[in-house]
Amino acid sequence: MKRDGTPGKAPERKTAGKREKEKQVMELMIRLYCRKNHGERRKKELYSLGSAEVPGHGQTGDELCSECRALRDYAMLRIEKCPFMETKTFCSNCRVHCYRAEMREKIREVMRFSGPRMIFYHPVMAVRHVVSSIREKKRMEREERQ
Ligand SMILES: [Zn+2]
Repeated sequence: MKRDGTPGKAPERKTAGKREKEKQVMELMIRLYCRKNHGERRKKELYSLGSAEVPGHGQTGDELCSECRALRDYAMLRIEKCPFMETKTFCSNCRVHCYRAEMREKIREVMRFSGPRMIFYHPVMAVRHVVSSIREKKRMEREERQ
């Protein structure tokens, strides 16, 4: 575990950290989803590419099938460009739905699948996500009442 001294005081630093965290969670969720749902598809893809990579072996290669890779890239871009990063916690509870309908459907599917499973695979991150999601929801409700 490394300490990189993240508690920066400047707001841009905090935002950047949030962006990174969101990317991390998103990446993990998509990976988990793909591994469990597209294992066969990915294997076929690898073989058809003539890749030397052994499926399911090692962490170095891109572990996603082409569809999930596209989804991941898309999600990363949305996070990168999100103008609301400062005020919200995660894209999943953002009011402004900047995801294209088709991609949003896919992301939702990924979250439905991976969300509950994150508890087992990445408990710390999952708990953090849940806590900040709840906090965010409460905050949004408060704002709406005003
Ligand atoms: Zn996939």
